[in-house]
Amino acid sequence: MQKNIAVIGAGPGGYVAAIRGAQLGANVYLIENREVGGTCLNRGCIPTKTYFRNAEIMTTLKNSEEFGISVDNYQLDGKKLQNRKNEIVGQLVGGIEKLIESYKNIEFINGKANLKDKNTVSVKLCSGEEREIKVYNIVIATGSKPTMTETKGIELEGVITSDELLSMEEIPETLIVVGGGVIGVEFASIYNGLGSHVILLASRMLKNADKEVQKRITPLLKRQGIETYVDIRAKEIIKEGDKLRVIAKYKTKDKEIEVVGDKVLVASGRGPVVEDLNLDGVGIEYGHKGIHVNEDFETNIDGIYAIGDVNDVGVQLAHVASNQGVYVMEKIMGIEPVINLDVWPNCVFCIPEVAHVGMTEEEAKEKNIDYKVSKFLFGANGKALTLGEPDGFVKVMADEKNKIIGVHIIGPHANDLIHEGALAISNELKVENIAKTIHAHPTLSEAFYEATLGLEGQAIHM
Ligand code: FAD
Repeated sequence: MQKNIAVIGAGPGGYVAAIRGAQLGANVYLIENREVGGTCLNRGCIPTKTYFRNAEIMTTLKNSEEFGISVDNYQLDGKKLQNRKNEIVGQLVGGIEKLIESYKNIEFINGKANLKDKNTVSVKLCSGEEREIKVYNIVIATGSKPTMTETKGIELEGVITSDELLSMEEIPETLIVVGGGVIGVEFASIYNGLGSHVILLASRMLKNADKEVQKRITPLLKRQGIETYVDIRAKEIIKEGDKLRVIAKYKTKDKEIEVVGDKVLVASGRGPVVEDLNLDGVGIEYGHKGIHVNEDFETNIDGIYAIGDVNDVGVQLAHVASNQGVYVMEKIMGIEPVINLDVWPNCVFCIPEVAHVGMTEEEAKEKNIDYKVSKFLFGANGKALTLGEPDGFVKVMADEKNKIIGVHIIGPHANDLIHEGALAISNELKVENIAKTIHAHPTLSEAFYEATLGLEGQAIHM
């Protein structure tokens, strides 16, 4: 059989895999039952970051006096915000569609796929017809969807997921966010910036971040006016007229609180989209975290792979999905992939931004690594002061051989700055490699430079 490959799902995992496969000469069927771009472009990364930009602008307007600018009156037009988001999403989705079309060896099929056997995919086309495709390999990239907690009252009107919040024009007066993960913290920060009173109920804050970052983020969010409760779980939601009352219980003390809001955003996690794929029929193993895969993202069935949010690797990020897609296609096409899939940046678009790459201190301790740490505060960085954003720090960790093993940033443009750390860690760079590189002044990157030099006692400004 020729190298026909079916990719199911055209999110950042699936469409990138399809393009890489096509570049390598495969005939690819890319099957999608909704929009190209998946969650990321349509209901995730891009819509939220459009809103985030508004939140940043409104925060700057709120603090404009600091810059000697008086702004008497400003208000947000929720409809225009929606329109701008839809335009950006439309532009990106349209661009990806054109890109896919430009590959003559990709056939895009609009329909819902399920597996008949290890070499056959059946597609229920949008027209209602069925089509069967015979392939050499199958790449499942069906992504994830919001999971609701078992909290009582979760089905009430006004209790919503991120999908629904992002399609609302109205900005709720009071928004209760349940969940202190990336999505919960981002929405709390965004809606606070947009003018809602936000109440954040978190069992833990950013549980994958370094402990010091976890500790620092809560007071920073509180200072901006987000009513933040940590170590707490929502127990029950009650409808009271137009309002919703949430009863939440502390995890480690015998105490409850009650908060009232207009909407309750449930951001308590996302689960794999595995229904309707006929995984059981084909014998593919999966659990509640996703489809089981080996280190090459291959399932227990030879030649069938699962990439991105749908697999049980446990990283739900667009760039990770895309890189898994590239890796799998290169493997299928007989090329040894060069991507280092062990190192990926984690970014949280809150105010201030939070990013990390590599090991946390806790992980280094667990692995008995003899590490050292150095931290540079943005309060001592000229560029951060001119921006009016002096909160936060860059923390760099190195092992006993001076190899950089972890970078943790909280502060302005953390999500862009983190890539110097990612480059250093994935290429096993040492402190001296950074020290050798002149960093421009005045830039935020100097904070990374100084923190790294600090590992050797060579920092100039601390
Ligand atoms: P998806 O993007 O979910 O795509 C899967 C596609 O498969 C969908 O289009 C779906 O319609 C299709 N599909 C499903 N079943 C079938 C079927 N049977 N037949 C055909 N098609 C099917 N990640 C980041 O890296 N940065 C961010 O800033 C970020 N922000 C986010 C904000 C929010 C609110 C959310 C919810 C997520 C965010 N993410 C972010 C996560 C990111 O969106 C996902 O990690 C990413 O989209 C996963 O890509 P994927 O290709 O695995 O799946």
